[in-house]
Amino acid sequence: MRFTPTFVLASLAAFTACAPATTTTVATAPQPVVAAIDSVSIRTLVGQLDLEQYKATIKGLTQFGDRRQGTARNRAAVDWIEAQLKSYGCTNTERITYNYQVDTTRRASTVRGRLPTSAPGGAKLRGNLAPIGVNGDSLAQPDPKIRALDTEQTVSGERQEVYCTKIGSTHPDEMYIVGGHMDGIGWGEAANDDGSGTALVMELARVFSSPDVVTDRSIRFILWNNEESGLNGSRAYVAQRQSLQGKEGEPKWLGMIQHDMMMFDHGMPRPDHTMSPEQRPEADVNIEFQVNSKMAAESQKLAWFFQNANEKFATDYPASVGQHMTNTDSDPFKDIVPSISLRENERGTQIGAGWDPQWHQPTDLYATYNDKDFRLGLNAAQTTLSAVAELVGARLGK
Ligand SMILES: [Zn+2]
Repeated sequence: MRFTPTFVLASLAAFTACAPATTTTVATAPQPVVAAIDSVSIRTLVGQLDLEQYKATIKGLTQFGDRRQGTARNRAAVDWIEAQLKSYGCTNTERITYNYQVDTTRRASTVRGRLPTSAPGGAKLRGNLAPIGVNGDSLAQPDPKIRALDTEQTVSGERQEVYCTKIGSTHPDEMYIVGGHMDGIGWGEAANDDGSGTALVMELARVFSSPDVVTDRSIRFILWNNEESGLNGSRAYVAQRQSLQGKEGEPKWLGMIQHDMMMFDHGMPRPDHTMSPEQRPEADVNIEFQVNSKMAAESQKLAWFFQNANEKFATDYPASVGQHMTNTDSDPFKDIVPSISLRENERGTQIGAGWDPQWHQPTDLYATYNDKDFRLGLNAAQTTLSAVAELVGARLGK
């Protein structure tokens, strides 16, 4: 079993006992003593996250409509995100450039879709189902302003995605990658999918970029493009940069943490396919790894590490761990480094069963959500911020 950094080995070893035993390759040698975590610093950093600020960042993203890849509104959103990152003090922004050829055989259905018959990622559907699909009908968007905003359709050609990096003080050449996808589809505002994940990554970039925050290791904040077309932006990153690790500009990857659809957990659909209008009290942050991947054991440890950080530092909603990570930008990394995704629901068993009626629909609007929904996203941000802060050795002061 290959662990990447010694630090992670030490940090994660404490959590192997509570993890379900899907693998039995846990090291049996005595583990190094984990350095005392600076909980005061981490709690202070978590306190820098703010519900109104998180909402404002999501709202800012929705000015670009659904931000569909290959359009002017998508490029404008990349520019806006980059300007925001710089304004937060994450000034070393860079872009990945790649080419994407539109697959004209992939056409959005013009209706909400059909009841699902199977779940992706190795998951199993249970209980009540609701229809899923991608809206491709402009007239399904009743607001003429949003309809006009989303009218330009995608064309093949050059694409870009932006990232910035918090440089570690003692191990700048090693980093965790924290990502969300900034493109969307469906003739709405992509407020939840994935404005909520994009805003989470941006908020973490803001907190970690404060000049009084020091980290031992580096963190790269990246807003993927072309997720909805098939993870093309994250695949381009892996294709271009995997072999550059350890060389200038590309620290060694220690782990990849993806965020997608962070806000809506209203429970299982009712038997008539309708949904509860309120966030369920049992709402949780779903942390998934992929059991059928080369890095399954390490990824599982990382998932439980995040679950534990949630217990310690998240204010309102708990986190759950699942083993069927799929259809997300951490997928291209899953055989290379420990990789997890955070979501409002499990991708296979829950989103795949129709638990989010706004998914790829004209109703994925900022105005659709209330503070209980936004707060689930904020709790996911608290979870990732505290976990990553521990992993990179974050503290206040010089
Ligand atoms: Zn998404």
